[in-house]
Amino acid sequence: MYERQREEMVQKYLIDKGISDSKVIAAMRKVPRHRFVDTAMAHQAYQDKSLPIGFGQTISHPTTVAAMSQLLSLSGGERVLEIGTGSGYQAAVLSDIGVKVYSLERIPELARRAQRLFDELGYYTIAVQIGDGTVGWNAHAPYDRIIVTAASPDIPDALLKQLAENGRMVIPVGEKTEQKLTIITRETGEYHILEDYTRSFVPLIGKKGWTE
Ligand code: SAM
Repeated sequence: MYERQREEMVQKYLIDKGISDSKVIAAMRKVPRHRFVDTAMAHQAYQDKSLPIGFGQTISHPTTVAAMSQLLSLSGGERVLEIGTGSGYQAAVLSDIGVKVYSLERIPELARRAQRLFDELGYYTIAVQIGDGTVGWNAHAPYDRIIVTAASPDIPDALLKQLAENGRMVIPVGEKTEQKLTIITRETGEYHILEDYTRSFVPLIGKKGWTE
């Protein structure tokens, strides 16, 4: 279902917009985004739109998911920590690329719904936990990659600590309304920071994030 629309999305919003990572393109050609939104909105799932998923949250734009996935620079086989499971779409794309995903979500209903969907669709390499992602998920650290899908006022220390040597983190950092997609790499114990272009994400709420 929706194969033609999905293919059009990949061509128009990924390839034509400069996404070149073949693993990201292949994954987004496969993952059924319409299953990660309410059935009433399924027909809009392949437009470049963020859509409401309940509890005041959204599924990110396909262009954002593609850009962040590409910025992670994955080869396959990495261990990835995701903060903000939301609908589960981003985690499914990463799982399809061939990595093990540890995903944290602060809203229990969203975490449970995503887990049910992963079980139904067969995304068995995603572990979901309810919790505050600003303190990370120490039990499985260190992570080769960390992706934060909500806007943070700064880079949480715990996430820096949980990033593996030669690891890479992608996180939107800035004000509540506008952020810069920030890329942090860790090499021989040192962190290097690189910024991508300005974007807008929903806020990261937690101990080391924004207050509600
Ligand atoms: N990756 C998601 C997707 O594909 O649908 C994007 C979801 S949305 C843009 C960001 C999510 O981050 C929301 O579901 C929100 O509840 C969650 N979030 C915000 N602050 C959080 C925190 N401190 N820990 C875990 N999740 C958080």
